[in-house]
Amino acid sequence: MNTEKSEKLFEEAQKHLPGGVNSPVRAFKSVGRDPLYIEKAFGAKMTDIDGNEFIDYIGSWGPMILGHAHPQVIKAIQDTAANGTSFGANSVQEVELAKLIKKFVPSIEIVRMVNSGTEATMSAMRLARGFTKRDKIIKFEGCYHGHGDSFLIKAGSGVATLGLPDSPGVTQSTAKDTLTARYNDIQSVQELVESNKDNVAAIFIEAVGGNMGCVPAKKEFLQALRDLCDAEKILLIFDEVMTGFRLAKGGAQEIYGITPDLTTFGKVIGGGLPVGAYGGRAEIMKMIAPSGTVYQAGTLSGNPLAMIAGYETLRIIDETPDFYAKLEEKSAYLENGILKALKEKGLNYTINRVGSMFTLFFTDAEVVDFDTAKTSDTTKFTKYFNSMLENGVYLPPSQFEANFVSIAHSKEDLDRTIEAVSQAMN
Ligand SMILES: *Cc1c(COP(=O)(O)O)cnc(C)c1O
Repeated sequence: MNTEKSEKLFEEAQKHLPGGVNSPVRAFKSVGRDPLYIEKAFGAKMTDIDGNEFIDYIGSWGPMILGHAHPQVIKAIQDTAANGTSFGANSVQEVELAKLIKKFVPSIEIVRMVNSGTEATMSAMRLARGFTKRDKIIKFEGCYHGHGDSFLIKAGSGVATLGLPDSPGVTQSTAKDTLTARYNDIQSVQELVESNKDNVAAIFIEAVGGNMGCVPAKKEFLQALRDLCDAEKILLIFDEVMTGFRLAKGGAQEIYGITPDLTTFGKVIGGGLPVGAYGGRAEIMKMIAPSGTVYQAGTLSGNPLAMIAGYETLRIIDETPDFYAKLEEKSAYLENGILKALKEKGLNYTINRVGSMFTLFFTDAEVVDFDTAKTSDTTKFTKYFNSMLENGVYLPPSQFEANFVSIAHSKEDLDRTIEAVSQAMN
């Protein structure tokens, strides 16, 4: 594979951008090679500036559920842009997208648009604190909720009651309000709630974890969280930035049949443009300014261009018969093909898959939380990643990320991918 142009450009980029990139994982650091520069992408395929073509399983880290450059989405963006890109005033598109979100996700009574998943979770946290008049939040080890200070916290060793900052620049006083529990371990949550009685505002969770690789929550665990939150008047917040409109029309909460108090969205909701949103029970959402006193605003929030990209994406999903059944069929076909390829090589690695989100973990252990995810052999993953890339399959460059199947992946794409997996395991 010739990657000369990408290599040159990355060398130049490093003089101008931190690490040459605008988001860390794009630097390909963990897979020991230089990143590629993408020139264009259509459907399930991406082409880099050296002319190499790849079957893409990143899908812009989730948004591209219809595949890249869907003609109807592109046309809607073009038509809207021709009338101006942002007014700093209200527009029709934001109301239409809000209505569609509510139709898809019944727990959403009122929704506020923002510009990224990070903004959505930061704002939901402020709202939860304002509503409950409590300070602390609980999150789970291995769950990612964007780069807001309060979320960049790992559990301290031993008694995981005080958070330790994961990044310089996050102050101790911020970190102390973030408590970290173990995923799929209700006892670890009960202990934190008990030792911080009447001071926990919210529990944030990815109901299907996607940022330690794909790790689904157990249904009993989520139900126990719901019960605990009800008993202790804590808000249960599902971070569905990745899972929203990805796993089902109603996201993870539909699949599990568990209703959170608030939900955060991003990724698919913007159809490839920068959008996030948070919403939930009207009683809580009415506390947001200007209907309430919790302040949150945005110069570009709800701008017509971003809104129409999200709206058109959701509308196409809505109007495609059996959209999620089709996506499930493609994803199951791929999973089964990969499992078969592994078996033929005598390998017993774990695949976690929920709908069109999946991760192949290079471990024989069942992966149920961050600790078990970390039993993966990342050296083997790196070898696999590079072999796949050389073979024309573009995977997330980390063991601890989810892969995404889009509706544009054809049977031929999936078969070629399975063949590449088989070769990578030699
Ligand atoms: C991607 C992601 C975020 C952050 O969204 P950005 O748009 O990158 O700020 C937050 N939560 C989850 C679960 C995510 O997957």
